[in-house]
Amino acid sequence: MINFVAERARLMDHLRREITSEAVLAAMARVPREMFVPPESCEFAYDDRPLPIGHGQTISQPFIIALMTQALEVGGAERVLELGTGSGYQSAILAELAREVVTVERVPRLADRAREVLSSLGYRNITFRQAGEKLGWPESGPYEAIMVTAASPQVPPALLEQLAVGGRLVIPVGPTCDQQLLKVTRYRERTETVDLGGCRFVPLIGEGAWPEGNNE
Ligand code: SAH
Repeated sequence: MINFVAERARLMDHLRREITSEAVLAAMARVPREMFVPPESCEFAYDDRPLPIGHGQTISQPFIIALMTQALEVGGAERVLELGTGSGYQSAILAELAREVVTVERVPRLADRAREVLSSLGYRNITFRQAGEKLGWPESGPYEAIMVTAASPQVPPALLEQLAVGGRLVIPVGPTCDQQLLKVTRYRERTETVDLGGCRFVPLIGEGAWPEGNNE
C-alpha cells in the first residue's frame, strides 16, 4: 500500500527548493495527484516528472506546473482560462487559487474523465469546454490569466485577444521537440515577455498553433 500523504509531503519538500509562492505550494499540497494519473502509474504519482494519461497526452511535471502557476500570479479574484484540461490536475490547482476556471480540451474522453474526478473532489468553480475552431474560449473572455498546457510554435494572437489588460499568459513556445516557457503580460499598448526556461510539452493543436496530425 503506497502512503500517498508521505509521498506528497516528499514532493512538496522538493518543490519548496525552487518555488517561492506559499499559495501555490499550499494549493499543490491540497490536491491528490494520484487521483489524476492512470492506475498503472499510480506509484509514480509524486515523482517530479510527466506521466502518460492516454490518447498520446501527458500530465505535466509537478515542478513545471508549480512554476507556471506561480508565474500566473493568481490571487483569488481572477477568472482563469486553461487550454488543455488533460487529466484535470492543473485545473484543480488553478481552482484552488482562482475564483473561476474555464478549461478547454480537444479530446472528449480526457475531458469526461477529468470532469468526473474534479467533481468527485468537490470542485464547483470549473467550467469545461470542448475545443472548437478558435483557440481558447473567447465567449467568456477576457481573462486575467491564461495558462496553456500544450506547446505552440508562436504566441497565438487569438489568445492575446482573450487576455485582459494587466493579464498574464503562460505558454510553452517553440518547435515540437523542446520549447521555452514564456510569460506574456498584456499592457494597454504593449506586451512584455519573460522567458521562464526550457520545457517540453505535447503540441497545441489549432488555428495559430500546430495543424492536426501533430498530436500522436
Ligand atoms: N493540464 C494537463 C496537461 C494536459 S497535456 C494536466 O494537468 O493533465 C495537454 C492537453 O492539451 C492534451 O490533453 C491535449 O489534448 C490538449 N490540447 C491540444 N490542443 C488543444 C487545444 N487547441 N485546445 C484545448 N486543448 C488542447
